[in-house]
Amino acid sequence: MKVAVFSTKSYDRAFLEAANADRTHELVFFEPRLNLETSVLAAGFPAACVFVNDLLDAKTLKAIAQQGVRLLALRSAGYNHVDVAAAAELDLTLLRVPAYSPYAVAEHAVAMILSLNRRIHRAYNRVREGNFALDGLLGFDLHGKTVGIIGTGKIGAITAKILHGFGCRLLGYDVFPNPECQAIGMEYVALPELFGASDIVSLHCPMTAETYHLIGTQAIDQMKPGIMLINTSRGQLIDTKAVTEGLKSGKIGYLGLDVYERETDLFFEDLSNEVIQDDVFQRLLAFPNVLITGHQAFFTEEALKNIAETTIANITEFERGGPCHNQISVERSHKR
Ligand code: NAD
Repeated sequence: MKVAVFSTKSYDRAFLEAANADRTHELVFFEPRLNLETSVLAAGFPAACVFVNDLLDAKTLKAIAQQGVRLLALRSAGYNHVDVAAAAELDLTLLRVPAYSPYAVAEHAVAMILSLNRRIHRAYNRVREGNFALDGLLGFDLHGKTVGIIGTGKIGAITAKILHGFGCRLLGYDVFPNPECQAIGMEYVALPELFGASDIVSLHCPMTAETYHLIGTQAIDQMKPGIMLINTSRGQLIDTKAVTEGLKSGKIGYLGLDVYERETDLFFEDLSNEVIQDDVFQRLLAFPNVLITGHQAFFTEEALKNIAETTIANITEFERGGPCHNQISVERSHKR
């Protein structure tokens, strides 16, 4: 099948070409993201392959459908960037990669917890400058601390298991409690209780209408003073301005972000020679107790291999007329 691959970086190309080594499909790689302006590139392709910051709103979907696209193969698990209802109306099939390496994201969340706690990001710079003073680097034992996990699906459960190994007490919040988490002692509680009792809160639920700005002023008011907040899920789960106020007042003691609500204008690009226009983001960078990575939690060899192989298998299933195991349906999108 002829596939227009959008948002291509060198690593996407390498892993997709390896997964398609027998040339089952004709992959044509485009660097730009797919949006209304770039949708013309999809002309003549029955399939388009996209990543997390391609904007698949109703207008873009209509434009690509009119140009003959019938399949959208997402190289991601999350699909909050796709108007699923509009795709259904246009008879566009949506396939995703439901699990490629939950370990990659869970391990990155834990890396952020450890780095923020022991101030590794600051210690690294200090030592390079010959500053071996320890003031300002004081950490705490993770052992015995209470960690609240919001969203205890694949990634949340692995994060919980790793932290269980550190000797943490686990609180959870999910619309569907996970027996694997309960088996290691996780206690499911309501959100106000989770916020009030947790030393660390890590977000692992999807971005939906219900979870948009889950962490806002009200949630921050309920938090234990000095809490550590980690978000490796989706930027829009956090009201960044409210969190900035929480950092300024000291209510939030540490913030680790791998995702940011307006990351589309920033992440995955080298902007080191540009003037960043996003003042909210720049303010975050000025805090010594904030650690930001540019949506790299998924970025391991195992994950990229799985993403590429599942994407190619998804396209093959569609071309053969199904059934497509990883299809996103309107009904399923309501349950995200
Ligand atoms: P999953 O579907 O296995 O788990 C999500 C869990 O969230 C489920 O248990 C679900 O019941 C729960 N949930 C749904 N709505 C909820 C709500 N309103 N409140 C609380 N919990 C709710 O998904 P996963 O594979 O664990 O991925 C979790 C999220 O991680 C994805 O949605 C995606 O946004 C994010 N992600 C980020 C990266 C990255 O590189 N930073 C990579 C992959 C996934």
